[in-house]
Amino acid sequence: MISMNIKKECSSCLLCADAPCSKNCPHNIDPAKIIRSLRFTNYQGAFARCQDICLNCDAPCEKHCLAPNSVRIKDILSYCLKKKKENPIENKHGDIHTDICGIPIENPFLLSSSVL
Ligand code: SF4
Ligand code: SF4
Repeated sequence: MISMNIKKECSSCLLCADAPCSKNCPHNIDPAKIIRSLRFTNYQGAFARCQDICLNCDAPCEKHCLAPNSVRIKDILSYCLKKKKENPIENKHGDIHTDICGIPIENPFLLSSSVL
């Protein structure tokens, strides 16, 4: 689970294609992918991708965000990093991201509740 504040922050993300936040991360963290994982409740996947480098970064990802002042990327990633450290084993192996017929699926369990 994640806090309501973090959920709210993530809900402001525009889920950009070719996301400028990720393109401007000098450390290849891919914050857009992490936020997308959080949006689709793949929490362990999000936590597993977070790294300490964000804590000492001046966050150029935020400066290039297309939803400025709405998505505090560094705060989101710092929160995920804290969650990762609280339960390192579960969060290292719990990524549920997969591909189905070449289509990336962030959370395959969401399909089980589909009417299709
Ligand atoms: S805070 Fe820095 S290292 Fe972390 S995703 Fe943003 S630009 Fe990359
Ligand atoms: S640029 Fe901003 S709005 Fe777009 S994916 Fe990244 S965090 Fe979300």
